[in-house]
Amino acid sequence: MPTISAVMHPLRFEPIIKQLIWGGKRLGSLLHKPIGNAPFSGESWEVSDHRSDVSVVAEGALSGTTLRDLIHHRKEDLLGKAFTHLEQFPLLVKYIDARETLSVQVHPNDEQGHRLANDNGKTETWIVVDAEPGSVIYVGLNEGITREMFIDAIATGEVEPLLHKIPAVVGDCILVPAGIVHAIGAGVMVAEIQQMSNATFRVFDWNRLDADGKPRDLHISQALESINFEAGPVNPIRGVSEPVPGGTKQRLSHTEYFSLHRFDLDGTIKIGRDDRFTIVMALDGEIDVRSADYSLILRQGETLLLPACLNVCDVSPVARHAKVVTCVVPSFV
Ligand SMILES: [Zn+2]
Repeated sequence: MPTISAVMHPLRFEPIIKQLIWGGKRLGSLLHKPIGNAPFSGESWEVSDHRSDVSVVAEGALSGTTLRDLIHHRKEDLLGKAFTHLEQFPLLVKYIDARETLSVQVHPNDEQGHRLANDNGKTETWIVVDAEPGSVIYVGLNEGITREMFIDAIATGEVEPLLHKIPAVVGDCILVPAGIVHAIGAGVMVAEIQQMSNATFRVFDWNRLDADGKPRDLHISQALESINFEAGPVNPIRGVSEPVPGGTKQRLSHTEYFSLHRFDLDGTIKIGRDDRFTIVMALDGEIDVRSADYSLILRQGETLLLPACLNVCDVSPVARHAKVVTCVVPSFV
C-alpha cells in the first residue's frame, strides 16, 4: 500500500502514453518512454491531474500514490504556501511526437473553456526537442487575415496559406496563448507545458481519416468563438542568456500560468523555492539532482516535480554539459 504520509521526496511519475493517429516512435527511441511496439505514440503526459489521466509516482517512499491524492492530502508540502487555494495541479507537462502534422486547432481561454468544453482554458508553450530537416510549425494567422477570410478558407479546405509558418528549430521556445490557431508540423517533437486542460477545438484536419476510415470531428463554431483574430503571427522567444554560477540562464515563456527558464549547465546550480513547487525537465544530457536528504539522476527526457517543502537542491550535469528547463507558477495575487 502506498503511504500518503511518507517523507516527501522529488517526484518522478509514470509517463501516460497516448496513441494518436499522427504520433510516431520517437518518444521511445529518443526519450526512452515505454511505448513498446505501438506505432502511433503521440504524447507522453509527464505530469497530469486531468480527469482520468492522473500521474502516479514511479519510485521512492511515495511510489504508487497519485498526484491527485498528493494534492488532497499533502497540498502545502507539494504546491507550497503560495498555492494552497488550488484544488487541482495547475500544469500539464507533455512530450509530443508529431510523425504527421497535427490538426489545425485552437484552445479556449478560461471563460470559453468552462463554457464551451467544461474544462480550463489552455495557454501552452513548446520547446522544440527534435525536428526533421525542413519541418515546420504553424502558429498564428498571417497579418491581415480576417474572420471572414478564415471562414472561407475552412469551407474550401485552403487553410494552410493563411497560417503563419516558421521553421522548426531545436531549442526554440514558442508561446501559444489561448486563441492562437496552430498546428505542430510533421517531424517535430516538442516538450509542452500548459494549463491543466484538454480543451482543443479542431478547425481543419488536412482531409485526414482515422483508423476506422472516418474524418475526426471538427469543432468549427467553438473554434471561431475562441480564435483571437487580432493576434497575428507568433514567433519564437529569443531570450538573452545571462551567465550564472554553474552555467547560463535564459528566460523563456512567462505568463500568469507558468514561467520557464533554460539553464545551460557546466557546473552546479541551485533550483527550487520553499513557497512553491518547481518542475525540472532534463532536455539534453543527464543531470544529478541532490540535497542533504536525497540524490537522483534525471535522464534526458525525464521530468521531475520538486515539491515546495524540499526547498532548494543542487543540480549539475552528469557528463560535462546538460540543458535543463525549469518551470514555476508565478504568484496569482
Ligand atoms: Zn495546442
